[in-house]
Amino acid sequence: MGGSLFGEEKGEALGPLYKSESRANARHVPAESRLHEGSSRLTCGKPENIITVHTTYFCGSVTAIPTSEGLVLIDTAKPETARQTLDVVRSWDNSPIHTVIFTHGHIDHTSGITVIDEEANARGVARPRIIAHRNVKRRMDRYEASRGFNSIVQGQQFNMPGYVYPIGQRRPDEVYDDTLALSIGGERIDLFHGRGETDDATFVWLPERRVLASGDFVIWVFPNAGNPRKVQRYAAEWAIALRQMEQLKPQSLFPAMVRSFLVRSEQRRCCGMAPKRLSIWCARRSR
Ligand SMILES: [Zn+2]
Repeated sequence: MGGSLFGEEKGEALGPLYKSESRANARHVPAESRLHEGSSRLTCGKPENIITVHTTYFCGSVTAIPTSEGLVLIDTAKPETARQTLDVVRSWDNSPIHTVIFTHGHIDHTSGITVIDEEANARGVARPRIIAHRNVKRRMDRYEASRGFNSIVQGQQFNMPGYVYPIGQRRPDEVYDDTLALSIGGERIDLFHGRGETDDATFVWLPERRVLASGDFVIWVFPNAGNPRKVQRYAAEWAIALRQMEQLKPQSLFPAMVRSFLVRSEQRRCCGMAPKRLSIWCARRSR
């Protein structure tokens, strides 16, 4: 990916570190070896570039926003991908990481904080502040209390026999309930809580850039409204959150998975069609 995108945006693909695959070849290449293909540094509404690190369908993306106080990261990747993900960010920007926002408490969004903290310790700088919805703390506590069961279920779902769910990661320093307006180093960052895949979810809106980072509210495929042996997800509230995102009319939408960003026609497919389908799904369930 590279070159002109749409509107005022321009993208710079990460070329030298990770080579592209043709679609025909890609299906025969293990997903882990294609990590970060399609990661980009984008000019979105301001001269300072936003970095978005795509980490394949199996792991949430990471977005880095430059500010005069340091980087603000949205999510952190998972233990297996966090080091590479941070390396990709560092290939473009070496600033200290000032704040980390967890879009929700799933480990492919939160557990990379350990690598980030290790880097801060090695540099002799303060570890970043973590901000998240209040229920992220409760989720982390619940996962630790149910670690044995969670290991079995996750191992079955992702075909990883013997899998052990990682625990002990750092909790958020600051939590919010409904909305939170941040101003960090000249960047306005608005957090909105919604329920969809989880009850602790946040989508992030940068009003001056008209950029939306959706977390797992948008993963391009049909919203995953439920899995066997897990708690039911929040299909009706998910549709509401997607409608709220649509009303913001973002110039760019950075989804959690799939690839770096979605253009407007793709946003309409996610934020316009998905709520209708979720509503139909809810209506059929309630019969
Ligand atoms: Zn998730």
